Amino acid sequence: MSESTDILENASFDQIGEVLKSHQSFLLLSHIRPDADAIGSQLALGYSLMAMGKSVRFVNEDGLPENLEFLPGSQVIEYPPAEAIDVEVVIALDTADKPRLGKNALKAAANGKIWLNIDHHKSNPKYGDLNCIDSTSPATGQILYELITHLEMPLPDETRDSIYVAVSTDTGSFQYPSTTAKTYDMAADLIRRGLDVGTINSKTYDEQPYRRLELMRALLNTLERSDDGLVANWLMRDKVRADFNLQPEDSEGLIDIIRGIRGVQVAVFFEELPDGNIRVSMRSKDKSFDVCQVAQVFGGGGHALAAGIRMDGPIEDVKGKVLAEIRQRLDAASN
Ligand code: 5GP
Ligand code: MN
Repeated sequence: MSESTDILENASFDQIGEVLKSHQSFLLLSHIRPDADAIGSQLALGYSLMAMGKSVRFVNEDGLPENLEFLPGSQVIEYPPAEAIDVEVVIALDTADKPRLGKNALKAAANGKIWLNIDHHKSNPKYGDLNCIDSTSPATGQILYELITHLEMPLPDETRDSIYVAVSTDTGSFQYPSTTAKTYDMAADLIRRGLDVGTINSKTYDEQPYRRLELMRALLNTLERSDDGLVANWLMRDKVRADFNLQPEDSEGLIDIIRGIRGVQVAVFFEELPDGNIRVSMRSKDKSFDVCQVAQVFGGGGHALAAGIRMDGPIEDVKGKVLAEIRQRLDAASN
């Protein structure tokens, strides 16, 4: 592990390929509260490496969320073990900054000799020994597809399905502006390789637990919109978690509902976490308003159109500060 590296240039796919080919043991990590791009990226690269005969461990600070158990081969995802893992190469996937890997996952990775950092967040400070950060890519899964096909690595079924779900979810079902011809070409190629589109989409989108709809109802009761209609927000109190027996992933993606309101340019979701911190999720509808810049004011990060922050509570203070920052920027932009 090295923090001292000054290689701020991206490594080429071939340089990354050299590291993958010349080592035997790998530890794949992704961010806390993992989404499908995080877990899918771990599975995609890991199953390809295992098909090359490599030994691979898959660790996530928060384990495998219930809504991603359908991903083929996902049972390999483990919580961080108590002891540091004996491993040569650590690969951080889809993780905008190192602390977002989680304290226990970082301890598990402490014996790694080389760190690779593969991600699509533009705020990523390139904390690996070799970095591959492509902020034009809609998902880390798509970067891995390009890496795996470029290097002619194996693409087993687990890899194929995980890449598809990672990209499908990070593009809002191939809708966001980050979706390009490359994305559709990739999807077509995965279908040619045997992907069952109907089944995998149904497992991804049509299996919502009822409690998630109950959460949606509670959120709707807190919905607010600014007088000019440009900002919509809602919030979730920690108590709601117990009321509906929620899992951490249940709130994932709900912000798209308020992002979808006509006239809204910025959507914000404030969530009280069990530890008292507040999670802030933000979405913008177009690049003229960059929510990553807002997030960075408060120590968060992400992309121009989707960004997040963790802040100290209480939730009213966080809400006041973040909405004021957004308002100031909207006013500055309109003058
Ligand atoms: P979400 O709103 O879906 O949690 O996150 C949107 C985007 O912002 C994701 O790409 C995520 O990685 C990034 N993000 C969310 N929360 C944080 C945070 O606390 N810190 C940083 N650096 N990025 C975040
Ligand atoms: Mn992602």
